[in-house]
Amino acid sequence: MPWGINFGGGVNSTALVLICHDIGLKPDWIVFSDTGSERPETYANVRRVESFCKAVGFPFEITRWIRKDGTFESVHDNCLRTNYLPSKAYGYSGCTFKWKIQPLQRWRKVHGFNPSGIAIGYDAGETRRLQNAAKRMCQDTERDSDETVWYPLAAWGVDRVNCVRRIIDQGWSPSKSACFCCPSAKPDEWELLGAEYPELLKICEEIQDAAKCAGHADTKTLFRSYDPNAAHCVCTADGCLIHDETGAA
Ligand code: SF4
Repeated sequence: MPWGINFGGGVNSTALVLICHDIGLKPDWIVFSDTGSERPETYANVRRVESFCKAVGFPFEITRWIRKDGTFESVHDNCLRTNYLPSKAYGYSGCTFKWKIQPLQRWRKVHGFNPSGIAIGYDAGETRRLQNAAKRMCQDTERDSDETVWYPLAAWGVDRVNCVRRIIDQGWSPSKSACFCCPSAKPDEWELLGAEYPELLKICEEIQDAAKCAGHADTKTLFRSYDPNAAHCVCTADGCLIHDETGAA
């Protein structure tokens, strides 16, 4: 059976691509499902991995969710148009299904990789995620029955630290992947987004305000416990990104 890598653009799937090359294991496909809402450093990493794949002869493709009218709409543009938060904020996984799972399923069918093995980059330390994935596999009737999911990093005993180390050994910087407007972001991630990409945080505030005005965010919020108007300290090796040397905001 052919197999490929569901490339998310972050640390684990980047390490998975590199390790596969290290051990001479060539996937039949590597596909990145683009939400249109990743952070700039994630897109930079996707381009870097794409170039690496081209150089070593690994097949790399980017796919997207295309609407019935033939256009693409990112997660954040969809939120702004519909005045809803990403479905994760309401406890659902519709955004993951629409922007990540469905486009990959369609791509595999169109390109003749059906059935196919699908390698996902859960690492050896992600015990709960692996257990939940195993439960979902047993319960999820919507799952494409022509796919066999496997978790090579976990099978090989590669944890997050090993993944980061492998990326650094390559001379690259590890970067996380997730929509910049993901309701699962932690408070410090919102703070970092505001410090590094204030224009993206502004879009998130617009999404939150529009959903609230439309009555779609009365009890739910994009920011959870984070208050974008309160200044918090965001310290990096180069100093604090928010406070100046006197500690003033
Ligand atoms: S990263 Fe968050 S917002 Fe984006 S698709 Fe996944 S759950 Fe939804």
